[in-house]
Amino acid sequence: MTVDPYGRSCRCGNRGCLDTVVGAQGFLELLRDVYGERLEISGVLEMAEHGDMRCRRALTDAGRALGAVVADLCNLLSPERVIVAGPLFAAGEMIIRSLRETVDHRAIPAAASRLEIMRSPLDERAEMLGAIQLALDAAAVGGLGRLGGGRGAARPVVGAAGPASRTGG
Ligand SMILES: [Zn+2]
Repeated sequence: MTVDPYGRSCRCGNRGCLDTVVGAQGFLELLRDVYGERLEISGVLEMAEHGDMRCRRALTDAGRALGAVVADLCNLLSPERVIVAGPLFAAGEMIIRSLRETVDHRAIPAAASRLEIMRSPLDERAEMLGAIQLALDAAAVGGLGRLGGGRGAARPVVGAAGPASRTGG
């Protein structure tokens, strides 16, 4: 999903995809000029917690970029819930707040007010569990029950920002 038609090249071949902004690798590229090539998400979160303004700003901007996309989805589909997952969301309110504020600002009020935004309890296991569940479904071994503790719990999520992000394209 394109968020900046003149943005950075994406691994999918397009430019300015959401993945180049909130995917872990794209996000880190924004900060590696300053903090070096070995910077990882965990380091960003730690610096942000200790008040580093660049890291805090980068997280806020990522939340805003995602919020703009979620607001459009909200206007089109009016979902009841958006579930986010991936290492960036370990930042908690530092990223979720700007995501929420952007949705509230840009989406139709009636759609935004009913929307719940939450972190996936599966987090980084979501992709693995989803892949296993697909394999189980394909093998028609439903008698084993679903993974992740509940019906549908291992299904893909919206707005992910994992290492192998699902937001690209
Ligand atoms: Zn892309």
